[in-house]
Amino acid sequence: MGGCHSYPSATKTDSKTLQPSDISNEKLGTNNNNLEERPYLQQQYVCQRVTHTDMFALTALPPGVDKAEWLASNTVAFFKHINLFSSALSEFCTPSTCPTACGPGNMVYVWTDDHGRKLKCSAPLYFDYAMSYIQDLLTDEAVFPTKAGSVFPTGFFFLVQKVFLLLFRTLAHIYWCHYRETLALGLHPHLNTLFIHLTLFSRQHALLDPEETAPLRDLILALGQQL
Ligand SMILES: [Zn+2]
Repeated sequence: MGGCHSYPSATKTDSKTLQPSDISNEKLGTNNNNLEERPYLQQQYVCQRVTHTDMFALTALPPGVDKAEWLASNTVAFFKHINLFSSALSEFCTPSTCPTACGPGNMVYVWTDDHGRKLKCSAPLYFDYAMSYIQDLLTDEAVFPTKAGSVFPTGFFFLVQKVFLLLFRTLAHIYWCHYRETLALGLHPHLNTLFIHLTLFSRQHALLDPEETAPLRDLILALGQQL
């Protein structure tokens, strides 16, 4: 997984031309990583988080705040946090440890370029593409305007949904493939907090397809019971 530096573009052409169907899931058989129990569901871990803030209040649209502005500022913040977090685990996510970008339930995330070509790539490469794609979007003044009086583009909500899909997959890969390293580093309370915040925010604002989150529904329910 990449660091928190600037990422090169995933493709030479405009990556915003990617469509949601371009980033697809494929079941490609059993991965040895996935045969073991799901340690992240164990009670002694699932109850760990770094704050006991009211997450529902934290994610709801504050009165008087423009919804697009609220989505934009949170998107930027989630990207920064998740990018930083994944970079802390990057030494454990290599082409040899993670030859495919696998997620919960033996899902394999396949990157599709803007020419419709599916790229079988390792997890670090997949998430490099993802972070690069997101960073390009966030720094595009036409998509995430920062100047006073600017307006958000028509497809803004759709692009935010794509960003949240990729951020969700980043955390899903960590839970599925790097949870033991996360525990060893003592990062599991941070991971749970980020994940609760992301999934609650996504639910409040309809940003993630339930089909995408289904393989981690057990974790989402277990963490929700702690709130
Ligand atoms: Zn990995």
